[in-house]
Amino acid sequence: MIKTYEPLHHKYRPSSFDELVGQGPITSTLKQALISNRIAPAYIFTGPRGTGKTSSARIFAKSLNCLKSEKATTVPCGECELCKGINSGNALDVIEIDAASNTGVENIRELIERSRFAPAKARWKVYVIDECHMLSTAAFNALLKTLEEPPRQVVFILATTDPQRVLPTILSRCMRFDFRRIALNDLENHLMSIAKKEEISINKEALSLIAKHSQGGLRDAESLLDQVSLLPPPITQLNIINLIGAVPEEELITLAKSLINKDPNSILKICNRLINEGKEPIAILQGIASILRDLVITTVTNKQTNLCNISQENSESLIDLATSINLSQILKLQAKLKGSENNIRNSNQPKLWLEIHLLGMLADEDSKDNNRIKQSFPRTRISDDSEPKDSDHKPEKIEPTTSKELKKTNYKDDFKHNEDLNLADIWKKVIAMLELPSTKMLLSQQAKLINLNSDSAEIVISEKWINMIQSRKNLIEDAFYKARGSSTKVLLIQQKDNLSKLQKENKKSQLIEQTNELKVNKELNKNNCEKKEKKIEPKINLETNSIDQKAKQFADFFNGEIVDLE
Ligand SMILES: [Zn+2]
Repeated sequence: MIKTYEPLHHKYRPSSFDELVGQGPITSTLKQALISNRIAPAYIFTGPRGTGKTSSARIFAKSLNCLKSEKATTVPCGECELCKGINSGNALDVIEIDAASNTGVENIRELIERSRFAPAKARWKVYVIDECHMLSTAAFNALLKTLEEPPRQVVFILATTDPQRVLPTILSRCMRFDFRRIALNDLENHLMSIAKKEEISINKEALSLIAKHSQGGLRDAESLLDQVSLLPPPITQLNIINLIGAVPEEELITLAKSLINKDPNSILKICNRLINEGKEPIAILQGIASILRDLVITTVTNKQTNLCNISQENSESLIDLATSINLSQILKLQAKLKGSENNIRNSNQPKLWLEIHLLGMLADEDSKDNNRIKQSFPRTRISDDSEPKDSDHKPEKIEPTTSKELKKTNYKDDFKHNEDLNLADIWKKVIAMLELPSTKMLLSQQAKLINLNSDSAEIVISEKWINMIQSRKNLIEDAFYKARGSSTKVLLIQQKDNLSKLQKENKKSQLIEQTNELKVNKELNKNNCEKKEKKIEPKINLETNSIDQKAKQFADFFNGEIVDLE
């Protein structure tokens, strides 16, 4: 007889609480309820998919009803008629319904009607309602009445991945258990034991990669192991990386290195290569986020990599990288990643956005440095109500400063006693506190701070952009908070007259700044290159070309134009 194939997640479905992986507190509470015979009329099991909710509901139903025991037990036999019936879904008294396909009130009414009859064979009737958040409001209300006056010897077990969508009145009548994502260690050990039993030839690093990829979902991990077991042995990490489209760690480390060394050319090259190999931009971004997280851990734990996501084989390169950067630099890079995932996910040009964000991580750093340069120079004070004068903050005043000197200036402290600087400068500082490059650009081009007192700020905006800026008002208020250390209510004022004068002024100073940024950048790069190699010319050309392109794309995005770019 040909043995039918059984997927691993079926075959290794837990049959008792002791076999349930990684939900210790939940299993011990449920076991205690069974031992002390304190059975609630309704339970709700919440948590991410594949963490053991439905399995627990079945084990609980078997524990209540196993025929091998006179009363509820914590170790159902798995062999009696009822245990077998529950396992195969044929038991008369244990009814599982999927709310996703039975959303209507009719289904629930019928179910409630039947719950009034005594169990046929079992001690308890158990109703398991999976994905219960899908029930209609009418169905919920019908269920609510039954939960208010539950029939005897009936237990309802609701399971959901989305408890927010369950009526609060239902939630408050259920005993709630929150299933957690399963810890990496538990997942790894579980996969290891399955691989041994199934004689799958797979190494430890590869199993660990499967565990990481499934993000705490046991069923996902088992399914992936199932799929991977079809690969020709021996199964290695690389096979799995190719199968799931993950980005190899070596590539991510090189990319992170380029970010730290501020090498736009290399960033673009790596992105191009990875995307040509079929890697998703979002996977590259997530990979970089993970490397930055690991760098933080390596730095704060003094080079202990056991908490890192990175595999053992690449931990040396990670430690090397960590020695070339300090904690505050890593945190700054990390902060700039915020919001990038959404941009990339929601764009139909994810590659472009990936590049913009990664390059933005370089440019931002520089513009802050520019701010610091400005702050380190003495300036004339002017009163709050006077018109901001351009001459006061002209970037031309900036003289080249080495990056070491820049680090010594404390940007935030400087801000406090400079609060009485002119409004244009304050506005720039607020903009610098924003995280999204697009919002920064938008505000610096299309908005102007015209009034500021201790708790409110008035910002004038050109008519065309008022809606877009309105939607980012809370981000602006956050930025004010970061810049001033106190909350500031933002008032947006629409300006109907054309803002062309303002725009021109802004654009002019911005472009001068950008050009300056590029100058500084090139200067730095030149120094770097001279140390390393002599092929300076082509590299710099490529670099400026790509920055030219990015700058143009940015300008196009905001209906702007590039007047001059060195
Ligand atoms: Zn049994």
